[in-house]
Amino acid sequence: SANSNVRVRFAPSPSGDLHVGNIRTALYDWAYARHTGGTFVFRIEDTDQSRVTPEYIAAAVESMRWLGLSWDEGPEVGGPHAPYQQSQRLEIYREWAQRFLDSGHAYYCYESPEEAEARVARQKAANSPIGYDGHSRDLAPEQRAAYEAEGRKPVIRFRMPAGTTTFTDLIRGEVTFENSTVPDFVLVRADGSPLYTLAVAVDDVLMKITHVVRGEDLLSSTPRQIAVYRAMGVADEDIPTFAHLPFVMGNDNSKLSKRHGAVTIGQFRADGYLPEAMCNYLALLGWSMGDDREEFSLEELAQAFTLDRVNTSPARFDPKKLDSINAAW
Ligand code: GLU
Repeated sequence: SANSNVRVRFAPSPSGDLHVGNIRTALYDWAYARHTGGTFVFRIEDTDQSRVTPEYIAAAVESMRWLGLSWDEGPEVGGPHAPYQQSQRLEIYREWAQRFLDSGHAYYCYESPEEAEARVARQKAANSPIGYDGHSRDLAPEQRAAYEAEGRKPVIRFRMPAGTTTFTDLIRGEVTFENSTVPDFVLVRADGSPLYTLAVAVDDVLMKITHVVRGEDLLSSTPRQIAVYRAMGVADEDIPTFAHLPFVMGNDNSKLSKRHGAVTIGQFRADGYLPEAMCNYLALLGWSMGDDREEFSLEELAQAFTLDRVNTSPARFDPKKLDSINAAW
């Protein structure tokens, strides 16, 4: 039913109850998809199952429903959709890791994370421009055999290309990273489980995501992601457009935390806030209608939402403002 090619995803790794920052990201993702007549994809990134539990996943899904942020697709055909869940797609990521091994974009590395980190640290200390010394990039068969004889199991590392990565962020403008500051990263752990860095890029490509709208904390993972897209054969013009949202801070300009009162969706619900008021307030957290309207429904938000009115400086969470909007609803 989508009438544009725009495809946006909200891709949390719920290792706790969704908080203000997550929900604002979800809301902007949803609003951008709805405004453009595109498709909104909800994807649970739970490849790290020690942190992302079934309870937190269920709570995240329930929170999205409560807020009224409906998504358009899921793994099963017909509605109501469950979100995509990366833990159900592990085989797909392993296949891509194998392709990267075959094409030379990735390699087996037998060193422990500590050993590899120590190499990166030594390179830095020596002021070498290479983040990782590439020790395991081109192991000879005898070297591999020696590691195997020690009983070591390899991780699969991505071979970060030399050069720079530049992209135009819809909020921050042109951003450039020196690839030498990005060490070869792990795609698949020694136990065969794929990591976020692999899964996020594979899914963005397979799900034909056109716009990655997400928190600024993920800006530094963008060069890795772009490198993986390219390794998958994605042409530069088909790489998704990025928009990294400035942080949400507490009223006192410090990192938003429990000290600032209710900051998770569970707490807001327990405190009796209305979902309409939550969406209304969170939309205003770093964005404005462009006119004087401060009270609006989700439909009105969808009609008006564009990314060019997202603020470039951090937003401040103001519980008093939330209370006044809640009272007005
Ligand atoms: N799953 C990632 C996280 O919650 C976000 C992935 C993304 O939006 O690109 O940190």
